[in-house]
Amino acid sequence: MLIPNRLLMGPGPSNVSSDVLSALAQPTIGHLDPVFQTMMEEVKDLLRYAFRTKNAMTFPVSAPASLAMEAALVNLLEPGDTAIIAQNGVFGGRMADIAERAGATVVLLSFEWGKPVCNETVAHAVKANPHAKLLAFVHAETSTGVESDAADLCRIAREAGMLSVVDTVTGLGGIPVAVDDWLADVVYSGTQKCLSVPPGLAPITFSDKAIDTIKSRKTKVQSWFCDLNLVLGYWSGEGGRSYHHTAPVNAIYGLYQGLADLKAEGLEASWARHRAMHERLAKGLDDLGLELLVEAPHRLPQLNPVVVPADVDEAFVRSRLLADHDIEIGAGLGSLAGKVWRIGLMGQTAQAENVDRLIAALGSVLAEARRRAVA
Ligand SMILES: *Cc1c(COP(=O)(O)O)cnc(C)c1O
Repeated sequence: MLIPNRLLMGPGPSNVSSDVLSALAQPTIGHLDPVFQTMMEEVKDLLRYAFRTKNAMTFPVSAPASLAMEAALVNLLEPGDTAIIAQNGVFGGRMADIAERAGATVVLLSFEWGKPVCNETVAHAVKANPHAKLLAFVHAETSTGVESDAADLCRIAREAGMLSVVDTVTGLGGIPVAVDDWLADVVYSGTQKCLSVPPGLAPITFSDKAIDTIKSRKTKVQSWFCDLNLVLGYWSGEGGRSYHHTAPVNAIYGLYQGLADLKAEGLEASWARHRAMHERLAKGLDDLGLELLVEAPHRLPQLNPVVVPADVDEAFVRSRLLADHDIEIGAGLGSLAGKVWRIGLMGQTAQAENVDRLIAALGSVLAEARRRAVA
């Protein structure tokens, strides 16, 4: 089937470079082949670079990012534990659902969508629930385009003797992520956002403290596939790898190439590029009379929710952009459905020519939408 060449400016997947597409098309080899094992070690090293960590237990889960979320929570939580979960968008709610299914009692802290997690509220909740095992939150909320203060939230958890679980699916590669500086315990991401690798793999990293917690569990991890004790027989068994599941070999070629390209550009340069493209977009939107939803200090450069003007049909604009201009942008989720568009500038998508192409297309589609509304 012939697949169109879209410009992907939604909440992910982002555009994939021809470099990564070529890497994916190399011959499939065995998942225990020595050449592939060498690549696995290099992927782990490159992920340590991207996450800024020395954690030994750093590897890609063979699944989309939701399974890394699940792996983080089901490995740490046992029935009867308490988890404090901050929610300021869709993904915090998903964390709470997973934690409850793992038998934990969830203390859910809800914040306004479009605003960051309030650290003082979290600090109060941590004091009020001193026996909670962990604090989980989303660093970069893709549903609202908001960044929360991960370093300080990890500090609050640590000082109370709790583990921290950080979702940076949309953060990694686009804004600073510093697992070791944050002293974070479990941090996970995805490939299809700022790493610009096709969906289907989920980088994750565990601190030694997280590993100790998992090794001293009283009950088995409720999910066979996510049980870290079993997965590590494959991902950490240097010289003695054992079969757990058949790794998605070609997908890992793609991740290897995407991470190597990120390292060649440099993390700081990648963050600066995302920031510069965000500013270019904000200027273009302003020229079109459009407003960003989030206040400037908390904006994610890689995910920009734009307020839909009252006289414009939200879905019409997205469908014209796709059909006439081959540009995909995202719709609002949850309480923001119908109220915002979400414009992603993730990874390879974050280039000046792409921003300019979108602004030009948006200008003509908005004019068409308004003519249609009047007619
Ligand atoms: C995209 C995303 C996820 C889920 O990723 P999938 O690959 O779709 O499973 C989780 N958390 C956040 C913040 C995300 O943006």
